[in-house]
Amino acid sequence: MSRFFSSKFSSLDPYVPGEQPIDKKYVKLNTNESPFPPSPIAVRYAENEARLLNLYSDPTANKLTSVAAEKFNVNTNEIIFSNGSDEILNFAFSAFCDSDHPAVFPNITYGFYPVFARYNNIPYEEIPLKEDFSINTDDYCNINKTIFIANPNAPTGISVSLKEIEKIVSSNPHNVVVIDEAYVDFGGESSVQLIKDYENLLVVQTFSKSRSLAGGRLGFGIASELIINDLNTVKYSTNPYNVNRMTMAAGIGALEDEDYTQNNIKIIISNRNSTIKSLNNLGFQCTDSKTNFIFAKHKTIGGKELYLKLKENGVLVRHFDTPLLTDYVRITVGSENQMNILIEKLKNILEG
Ligand code: PMP
Repeated sequence: MSRFFSSKFSSLDPYVPGEQPIDKKYVKLNTNESPFPPSPIAVRYAENEARLLNLYSDPTANKLTSVAAEKFNVNTNEIIFSNGSDEILNFAFSAFCDSDHPAVFPNITYGFYPVFARYNNIPYEEIPLKEDFSINTDDYCNINKTIFIANPNAPTGISVSLKEIEKIVSSNPHNVVVIDEAYVDFGGESSVQLIKDYENLLVVQTFSKSRSLAGGRLGFGIASELIINDLNTVKYSTNPYNVNRMTMAAGIGALEDEDYTQNNIKIIISNRNSTIKSLNNLGFQCTDSKTNFIFAKHKTIGGKELYLKLKENGVLVRHFDTPLLTDYVRITVGSENQMNILIEKLKNILEG
């Protein structure tokens, strides 16, 4: 740390993203990306837009917003776009939390939440999951705190029903409830339609997973107009041109090519279910994933050893070196070929 670094950040412990290796080519199953390229329409629109990169992007994301509003059946003033959904989550921590509205989230969830809380100097509380890694929704009812729930949750993959989410949202009318639906397209139930009835609900989604645009960095929030206005106040106070032209164009293309997205989702769900079966046969226990990843532990080998051995064998998965998660690895669901390689390598490791 330089002697110039603000003391407010001196104890900041930044988020550690999954490895993006350049040393060799791995079967990359560690950051929950899509194994499929973006829709050809998204690619074409982005390429065309490249010619206009001398001009700033539209800070209102007018065209993308219209297309998305129609798709999600909301008004255009009920959506905001961002540079990945991480950015909306950060906006939400800064807009809706303070010492009177501390943040609260599960003790096992997306690792960025505590980082955003500390970055924004917000007090936060972590509520333990049940032993089976499910969320006890009663813990979040009537708590008068700003709630962040990833649904389905990460890295567990487990989802909460819409009915349970509504119970949480309706019992906290004086606080914002943020539902992070990064993985919802792979089998979860979306809360988007609840925004019509609850002005305290913010639903956050991303184009990084089911729409194959992780590298484009495109996320969005859907909420009541007033909540969106607050998020825009934060956006226009930090980076009005937060989404670049090519990404906005790619986003429109991805939304127009819904068949492509739905087909890819079908393949991922099918690959997930068959891989879980193969993993069970090899002595793994897996959670009930409604996402594009599998959270698995083996009856004899620990998570770290598995991660290292798979890496040696050219397969990259994610291991979280914390006491509650150390037995597990999180495996992104890839193409059929990638899943076959994973299972073959695991067979070799377990036999050796
Ligand atoms: N929420 C959750 C639960 C995630 O796992 C991720 C991906 N790491 C994100 C949000 C952020 O995704 P992105 O910024 O790529 O939209």
